[in-house]
Amino acid sequence: MRIVFFGTAGAAQHASDSNVCFAVRAEGCSFLVDASGSPVHNLLKAGFDPLALDALVLTHSHTDHVYGVPSLIHNLWLIKRGKPLQIISNPPTAAKMVQLLELYGLLNKEGLFPIEWIDGETGALEMAVSLTLKLFPVRHSVPTSGIRVEERGAAFAYTSDTAPFAGVIDASRGCQVLIHEASGDSSREDYLNRAGHSSARQAGEAAARSGVGRLLLCHFDYFAGPLPEDLRHEAQARFRGEVVVPERFKEYKIQDA
Ligand SMILES: [Zn+2]
Repeated sequence: MRIVFFGTAGAAQHASDSNVCFAVRAEGCSFLVDASGSPVHNLLKAGFDPLALDALVLTHSHTDHVYGVPSLIHNLWLIKRGKPLQIISNPPTAAKMVQLLELYGLLNKEGLFPIEWIDGETGALEMAVSLTLKLFPVRHSVPTSGIRVEERGAAFAYTSDTAPFAGVIDASRGCQVLIHEASGDSSREDYLNRAGHSSARQAGEAAARSGVGRLLLCHFDYFAGPLPEDLRHEAQARFRGEVVVPERFKEYKIQDA
């Protein structure tokens, strides 16, 4: 399977980067993880067919992760999508999204494609014959889910926003790739952890403990700093595998080792 990042920034945007959000392309299945920026524009730019998208996975209801949801639903309705769309999240996030979509009157649009609301924390979901997706709770300031995706022995886990948490290590065991937030460096660890976030050092430690081969960092705070490349160095000092600052719109392949 392949992952394409549309953005890697934390809540504050930057001239070179948009809020963290990525899409997954697998055999017989594609889905978007969180919805920021201009979702349909980004999907098209990355070569995804928005009409064929199977699901939207939402990790939590913070603005930077979900403000694109109304735009996504509105755009899909405008381009006459007929296929149902699964929206997979934890229940509190789903409840907020229903409120958000109702605010814009989007759930009453004539001819709107079916939306299937799915609680992703109840067990592994079979997204395609060979692909399973599972949400797991992480430690943030609102109910937040990390995700684990597996396709024929290739697997990755994504932390979403979280303070260091044993559940992340458990969920990423057996994965080739861990996508971990790194909202700052170790000098701000106390503040970050209190706010439900992790430093790059802690991301590196999580990768080392979980046994993955590759660590992808995201949720960068360009205002508080330091820059992603410096965070990469900090994480790398704690982890033997490769640490990557994802390039926007580049495909990252995840495969069985
Ligand atoms: Zn958040």
